Amino acid sequence: MIHLSLLYEMAYRYSGTAWDGQKWVAAKPIVALGTQVSSVPSRPTGADGTVASRAHDQNSPRSDHTPKPSTGTGTVRAIDVTVTNSQGTTITEAIRASRDKRLKYLIYKTRMFASYSNSKGPAWQWRPYTGGGHLAHFHVSTLSAHDSNGSAWDIGFEGGNGLLDFDIGAVGAPSVKGSAALALQLMLLSAGEVLPQFGADGSAGDETRAALKSYQSKRGISNEPHIVAGKTYAALYTG
Ligand SMILES: [Zn+2]
Repeated sequence: MIHLSLLYEMAYRYSGTAWDGQKWVAAKPIVALGTQVSSVPSRPTGADGTVASRAHDQNSPRSDHTPKPSTGTGTVRAIDVTVTNSQGTTITEAIRASRDKRLKYLIYKTRMFASYSNSKGPAWQWRPYTGGGHLAHFHVSTLSAHDSNGSAWDIGFEGGNGLLDFDIGAVGAPSVKGSAALALQLMLLSAGEVLPQFGADGSAGDETRAALKSYQSKRGISNEPHIVAGKTYAALYTG
């Protein structure tokens, strides 16, 4: 499927009238996610959207951005979220780790994961996506069975900007817990580092410190004892 521009606006719309006159509302999981990402600091918004435009419908008539059913008031079960690289990595990995039952699938940067397995891969694992686009935004589709569930998503930003302020030299210090810690661990693993005892458990302690030191030394990154917004994060997010 190709994702062309939606009805891009200054802020997300969650109900209204589509280009063809059809009334629509957004499913509550979409409202919840849109509301949460709207408070992420310094997030770009240029590709934000919920309901499909005419061009989008003509190119992708079965999209979850299109209100369904096509008579009466339809429901929109998709949202596009514009992100920087670091925001995109943190939020999509946090959603992937959360195994949120409302998710149908998520697309970001030529990859996707779904809440179900199929011939292209197991559930919740990144698989290639060949539909193009989605470089500056990610797409989320949700399942109709959970239309009325508006609880908060785990997007990794509940503690602030989503970047973990993690003192790499503080061996023995209490672990830093949460989805930002989990996203960091997942990025380290995907970069080839190891977490042999605890794995990606969302609790970053000495084992994660050791993996970070290894990661930094391989890339010649020094003088960065705190990785928040630094060269280490930049390398992880783009690597
Ligand atoms: Zn989309």
